[in-house]
Amino acid sequence: MTRRYDLQVHTDASPCSSASPDRVAAAAADAGLDGIAVTDHDTLANVDAVRDAAPDDLDVVPAVEVTTTEGHLLALDVAEAPPQTDPLTVVDHVHEQGGVAVLSHPFDTLRQYYETDLDALADAVDGVEAVNSRCVRSRFNERAAAFAAAHDLAVTGGSDAHFPMEVGRAYTSVEGDGALADAVRDGCVRPSGRGRYLTGHVATKFHQFRTATSRAVTSLTSGGFLRR
Ligand SMILES: [Zn+2]
Ligand SMILES: [Zn+2]
Repeated sequence: MTRRYDLQVHTDASPCSSASPDRVAAAAADAGLDGIAVTDHDTLANVDAVRDAAPDDLDVVPAVEVTTTEGHLLALDVAEAPPQTDPLTVVDHVHEQGGVAVLSHPFDTLRQYYETDLDALADAVDGVEAVNSRCVRSRFNERAAAFAAAHDLAVTGGSDAHFPMEVGRAYTSVEGDGALADAVRDGCVRPSGRGRYLTGHVATKFHQFRTATSRAVTSLTSGGFLRR
């Protein structure tokens, strides 16, 4: 049996997202996913809210997208947010609590990425995110896939959704019916879906524009400008 998990989804516990836990859970169910990892930046704050809102057959993996001193790192199946420190220490922290560590968009040079200690990192982590829908250049994902192949690491995919409509754009196919973390450790995962999806960035701009416009309208009307 193969299940589909979107292994990188943000909610409004991340500063750059306004997606409520209810809407994220509904979007994941609508997309027909079997599971999602809630990967807010450096916090597990909304995991329980997403799980409460999710249908019973949607597996909600408690996770964190950790801001390390280099790139971002997905800590999957963790109970505690790891410290924002050097990547190898973060990986140790994830393993100590039984989770799996996956490099998140590791070579996306338009965002936070990894430059040093790549061999040590490859030895330490459990996997590499090789399809991230928010990588605007396909070579960022291609380099991640090549790095994973060279080091015999598991490869995952995630939408990196910051809006509900993005959930499931990329995902991870998971073989078997065991725990997600075990499947990553065993390499029974492969990434699928769209690795280069610009609409999410357009939606971010639209969201900022709409917020600014509604603030302007509110200040006009509350100032009595339109009623005069
Ligand atoms: Zn990231
Ligand atoms: Zn992210």
